[in-house]
Amino acid sequence: MKSITSDSFKVHFNESCYSELNNHIKSVNYSKIFIICDTNSNEYCVPYFLSNISTNLEIEIIEIEPGEENKNIQTCLGVWESLSELDADRKSLIINLGGGVVTDLGGFVACTFKRGVSYINVPTTLLSMVDASVGGKTGIDLGSLKNLVGVISNGEMVLIDTVFLNTLPAEQIKSGYSEVLKHGLIKNLNYWKKTSNFKNLNFDDLDEIIHESVVIKNEVVLKDPFENDLRKILNFGHTLGHAIESYFLTNETKKTLLHGEAIAIGMILETYISKELNDISEKDLEEIKNVFNSLFDKVEFSQNEIDEIIELLRFDKKNSHGQVKFVLLESIAKPKIDCVVSEKLINAAFQYYLK
Ligand code: NAD
Ligand code: ZN
Repeated sequence: MKSITSDSFKVHFNESCYSELNNHIKSVNYSKIFIICDTNSNEYCVPYFLSNISTNLEIEIIEIEPGEENKNIQTCLGVWESLSELDADRKSLIINLGGGVVTDLGGFVACTFKRGVSYINVPTTLLSMVDASVGGKTGIDLGSLKNLVGVISNGEMVLIDTVFLNTLPAEQIKSGYSEVLKHGLIKNLNYWKKTSNFKNLNFDDLDEIIHESVVIKNEVVLKDPFENDLRKILNFGHTLGHAIESYFLTNETKKTLLHGEAIAIGMILETYISKELNDISEKDLEEIKNVFNSLFDKVEFSQNEIDEIIELLRFDKKNSHGQVKFVLLESIAKPKIDCVVSEKLINAAFQYYLK
């Protein structure tokens, strides 16, 4: 598959990953390589990765605990300390090998350690391949508030080897697929038609789908790297989705909700709001709802929970001047940014979802 050129770096796929990586390492005078991974990517992905990397440089592995609950400053402290104890210097190369938690946190650690060392992302989940791979957003959570602390800075390259998906649990594949569907909804009607038609797809189609998804995200971030306007469309479903995710993350009585599951609900709710504001048609709303409902089980919300989730919207990063800003859809592939929505309408959207 053809490499994709992003902002000062490239995304390489499958067969070309390791030759590009090995050439890059040869051409830069790095002092040492550090692979940041989590327990699972260490077990399932690191051995294969190491068997493909060819270098005489010393390679150290730094493992973190898996899961969103570890994407925090305590984990960063541990990684910064390990880097320091293992003599990382400014000519070190950090390779983040894992899902979005590892690439977000590892990218942030790399950008801040000794005021910044080079890093390469090797995403190993579908979600991190199609979403976290381009755009340069790195960061960590602050308590239950997602991605509140971080920087935007690109790595040297991104390597997407879809072989890593072979060990990824099915629910994680589905979670990542939400972002694939989002890319169609915000930017490309044909891509939505193709990717929402699950029954005509099989695992072999996934490589092409991932490539197209990265192309779509890349087009958006190249036009607006610092999210002044266009890039906001990537947040479709995420205003309510993040609030739902945060609520489930901190509430011990609730099961964990994967990111893709939370934003799937967010996309249904925000499409309903779009329809009520006379944008998207009833027919498209029904279609979008059915697609996400066939991917994920229904989640129940009490009125109390809905109220608490609405309260969490106060912390959304897109807010400005005290107003919550939504991305809505005029139609499929035609998003609208900076929309202000009443609490009453958000409530009605939850009632529609629960119906
Ligand atoms: P994750 O990193 O928690 O990975 C999901 C699970 O899969 C983890 O348990 C992990 O250990 C395991 N895993 C990873 N690779 C595996 C493999 N190949 N085989 C078996 N198990 C494997 O979650 P995620 O869904 O990849 O990423 C979610 C995170 O990404 C969130 O923190 C989100 O905020 C962030 N994100 C960032 C961006 C961005 O632009 N920077 C975009 C989207 C999401
Ligand atoms: Zn997302």
